[in-house]
Amino acid sequence: MVSVELGFTLGYILVCLCFVAPPSEFRAAGITVQNILAGWLGSEDLHFIYYHVKRTAATTLIHAALPLGYYVGLSIVSPHLQLWDFALAPTPALVYFAVFSTIFCGVVVMNYIWSRKGWERHPIVARLKSLGGNSWRATASNINVEFRRIDKFSSGIGGTRLYITDSWILKSGPYNVDIAHQANVHLHVIRTEDHVISHETGTSIQYLRIAVKQLSQGGKTFTIRLNSTEYGDLKNKLSAPIHAARDVVIRQSLSDMFLEAFREQVSQNPHYTLPEDAPPTEPCIGCMQTQSNIKLVKHCEEGDHGECVQCYCRPMWCLECMGKWFSSRQDQSHPERWLAGDSPCPTCRAKFCMLDVCFIA
Ligand SMILES: [Zn+2]
Ligand SMILES: [Zn+2]
Ligand SMILES: [Zn+2]
Repeated sequence: MVSVELGFTLGYILVCLCFVAPPSEFRAAGITVQNILAGWLGSEDLHFIYYHVKRTAATTLIHAALPLGYYVGLSIVSPHLQLWDFALAPTPALVYFAVFSTIFCGVVVMNYIWSRKGWERHPIVARLKSLGGNSWRATASNINVEFRRIDKFSSGIGGTRLYITDSWILKSGPYNVDIAHQANVHLHVIRTEDHVISHETGTSIQYLRIAVKQLSQGGKTFTIRLNSTEYGDLKNKLSAPIHAARDVVIRQSLSDMFLEAFREQVSQNPHYTLPEDAPPTEPCIGCMQTQSNIKLVKHCEEGDHGECVQCYCRPMWCLECMGKWFSSRQDQSHPERWLAGDSPCPTCRAKFCMLDVCFIA
């Protein structure tokens, strides 16, 4: 008889663990609170704030109900314990029931208070109110609009997700969402965590922990954590600079390291002067953000790169986009050969190498 209870207990603990901190396999299979309640929660993309208000409420309720579920389950698999006959049930079981039913009732009451007047008292709404602005609903709709844009930065480790939109930093955890306005924060890399995965290949992961300190009154500081290879993308999306302590060494991603070498080489190449009658340069057609500042002019000797040809395209690309294009055309398994490689011009397909990439003077 004991083995039935032990088996049930172990099984239940396992199910709870998978539910509270789902391993990636479970998350991939869609067994999370979000997916189970997808119909009620609505769309995160369309209504980010409302979605997370409901999700955090549901998560607190479900997690608080899990210990009671165990009691109910145990009463079914072991009827001889007479768990529902409070005069006969064993004392430890009664204490367990009393404690967890009190907690559950507390969470139910808390959710009821949160949900009144259209979630006016929910902690996420309180956070929106603390950000200032005319009304928290206006702030929420501003966040929702920015969240719908596809160019936001997003990253996730475990149950938390980090999003950077044009002006907001959003971090969602199981029970809350941290929200900060980009213009109102100081960011500090506080430490790096190096994790060795394999001794044979030597590949390892570095995580960065960054403190987001809100400068407004009452704004709380929270920390974000991400893979160091995402650091470049994060910086691109942030308008505020990130400070790092001097002893913090951040490992760059391969593409960031390549871009640095690419920029270095291009700045050493001869510069190109636009003819006087040429029209002014337009924004880069790759990113539409930077002015085009690159022209391909064949400078390499015949011996170096026999196949390079002169490209006659007008300047249409910026350095970053040209560097990314160049690295995307290389053999991805041999990064050590990238610097000596060549690539077709993204517009006319004429071959060029890194010696032929010129800044416009
Ligand atoms: Zn560009
Ligand atoms: Zn071309
Ligand atoms: Zn060349």
